[in-house]
Amino acid sequence: LSDRLSGILDKLTRRGALSEADVSEAMREVRRALLEADVALDVVKDFIDRVKQKAVGQEVVKSVAPGQMVIKIVHDELIETLGRDPQPIDLAAAVPVVMMMVGLQGSGKTTTTAKLAKRLQTRERQKVLMASLDTRRPAAQEQLKILGEQTDVATLPIVEGEDPVTITKRAMDAARRGGFDVLLLDTAGRTHIDEELMAETASIEKASNPHETLLVADALTGQDAVNLAQSFDRCVSLTGIVLTRIDGDGRGGAALSMRAVTGKPIKLLGTGEKIDALEDFHPDRIANRILGMGDVVSLVEKAIENVEVEKAEAAAKKMRKGTFDLDDLSDQLEQMKKLGGMGGVLSMLPGIGKMKKQIEAANLDDSVLNRQQAIISSMTKKERKNPKVLNASRKKRVASGSGTSVQEINKLVKMHRQMADMMKKVGKRGGFGGLFGGGM
Ligand code: GDP
Ligand code: MG
Repeated sequence: LSDRLSGILDKLTRRGALSEADVSEAMREVRRALLEADVALDVVKDFIDRVKQKAVGQEVVKSVAPGQMVIKIVHDELIETLGRDPQPIDLAAAVPVVMMMVGLQGSGKTTTTAKLAKRLQTRERQKVLMASLDTRRPAAQEQLKILGEQTDVATLPIVEGEDPVTITKRAMDAARRGGFDVLLLDTAGRTHIDEELMAETASIEKASNPHETLLVADALTGQDAVNLAQSFDRCVSLTGIVLTRIDGDGRGGAALSMRAVTGKPIKLLGTGEKIDALEDFHPDRIANRILGMGDVVSLVEKAIENVEVEKAEAAAKKMRKGTFDLDDLSDQLEQMKKLGGMGGVLSMLPGIGKMKKQIEAANLDDSVLNRQQAIISSMTKKERKNPKVLNASRKKRVASGSGTSVQEINKLVKMHRQMADMMKKVGKRGGFGGLFGGGM
């Protein structure tokens, strides 16, 4: 997406406000990105319509290219749709608080049950009991028992031949008698949704009246996500969604689809097979994944907040012309500080990996940046305009004036030269200059 989008961005640069044509063009790419991420078709349609309405006619912030502005609107809307605020697992109910995992076979219910149990037990200091209601798959109950032993979480003793509702009742009883705070019910899935599965899930809900009912779904679920979420949402009162295998290469479109059709919050992410691979849901992470474009958006946001754009534009222009002097460098250093260091800037730009290493090697943190600025301010105007005149005695003078060393001055001069070269190149490619919404 990034490549195609930057093509669009190029075209949109230099324009003042977002016209309908600007937006429509950008939306075609966004639409494609969403479909590639496997967001359900209807959800994509609704989403695009909402973004269009918000974007057309919107004033473009002066510091940002219109194309970037569209991306920001898209990103914000994605986050809004995914749910901006984290929704933790709710423990506020009479003990034992019952939580039920539902979902298809292989979606990660049993693993998530153990992960959540461990987390509640260690982080929230809850006394947790787990019970497997999976009477369908051989050794399914055994699987949970083993996980319980590994994680030091109690499991309900297995009794052969019981049906899911009977086990549920026994689990409730054991949880009450044993003084457990939380009871986690791990249900059986099916390879696909059918009436038997729905009836079984509903009967377990009725028997246990869970406080949390979590739909566990694989992040790789494609267009089926809508049907999956809707079916479970109709059959039980879902309170949230857990998205597993976020560590795989799925783009996470299912998150958007399921959230959009059910309105239920995504509460947790499964990020691996290990027991501690469970994370709270952060919408920006999924949004970036769905859009597939590095961290351009946060860069735009920071640029809006911090950068004095005209200066940056002028500097970028100068850099490209090769007239980038030490005064310009000093301005750039100032802006780098605001943007969280040069490494910070570069890490947000896709496709600049090589340069980033060089910069990181130069170790440009704030204290270094401050010293460099001190060096520059100890120079005469002539020296700042043309660093070549800096001979040994001048360097000595500057070093003592700035409380640094000749060695540091040499480093700075060298860096200035490299930067001027580097930025000339990047400027031509449209990277760094475009960053600040300047001409490319
Ligand atoms: P269930 O049938 O819904 O109970 O699914 P399981 O919990 O038995 O999980 C099926 C497989 O998926 C197991 O091999 C798990 O280790 C694996 N799994 C579960 N969650 C994750 C996850 O977040 N990431 C990865 N990579 N694997 C997972
Ligand atoms: Mg299972």
